[in-house]
Amino acid sequence: MSIATGIALITGSAQGIGRSIALRLARDGFDIALNDVSSKREQLRAVADEVDKIGRRTLLVPADVSVEQDVKGMVQDVSKQLGGLDVMVANAGIGRLKSLITTELEDWDRTMAVNARGPFLCYKYAAQQMIKQGRGGRIIGASSVLGRSAVPICAPYAASKFALRGLTQSAALELGKYKITVNAYAPGLIKTPMTEALEVDIAEADMEMFNVAISRLSTRAIEAESQPEEIASIVSYLASKEAHFITGKTMRKFQDF
Ligand code: NAD
Repeated sequence: MSIATGIALITGSAQGIGRSIALRLARDGFDIALNDVSSKREQLRAVADEVDKIGRRTLLVPADVSVEQDVKGMVQDVSKQLGGLDVMVANAGIGRLKSLITTELEDWDRTMAVNARGPFLCYKYAAQQMIKQGRGGRIIGASSVLGRSAVPICAPYAASKFALRGLTQSAALELGKYKITVNAYAPGLIKTPMTEALEVDIAEADMEMFNVAISRLSTRAIEAESQPEEIASIVSYLASKEAHFITGKTMRKFQDF
């Protein structure tokens, strides 16, 4: 095994975009800490096996990103057991398709807890650790195309992804002096277990509103489906040495402007 490029922690990496990011950063030479909720331990283990085959060290850190003590403990474990933290990817997220008038307070609270509080905690504890280490770092969060321009039937999700962009810009301005960059990726629709799970919501959705949502999401200059691997390649670039001057940016839906 060669010397690692650094140590990366990816939240929500048992599946979907997070899994692809973990494998891509492993191929880039990072040792990888894999996080997801504890009920996905077996899936996390399978991703760890794939990282092992690439030849990098792995650590499983199951935790709920919406719980402060979990995130604090996860960053401490990674730093202690892998020797530091150079890249934090706050990828974990949840989403539903529901109209505003049927969205329950619990839906709003849970979405904001995972998609906005979670990244806030990940950014905060990663930044503390990176400042302590004194070797710079990369913090990267998951926004969405809906974090810049909302569509119907996703109010809490869109609000949480707008929040992620504000968090990213403010953190970038504070952390630049420590050579820590803070950026986000903002994909359009990518086929993952999250979008597959939305089938249930779609079956119950107001079709008029759903069609408005789909037509607003469908503007693109290149007619191609993005895959999780393509999002992972953006993260790979943001984590690379060459991207040291890019900060505060949200890299948005890639076939449109
Ligand atoms: P996914 O549902 O396939 O994977 C997300 C992972 O996050 C899951 O494994 C889930 O268990 C985990 N997670 C959920 N709550 C958690 C918590 N509290 N603590 C730790 N882990 C938790 O979703 P995905 O499509 O791979 O999406 C990844 C990120 O990209 C999300 O933030 C999502 O909002 C964002 N995104 C996805 C799309 C898309 O079309 N797939 C588009 C734009 C943005």
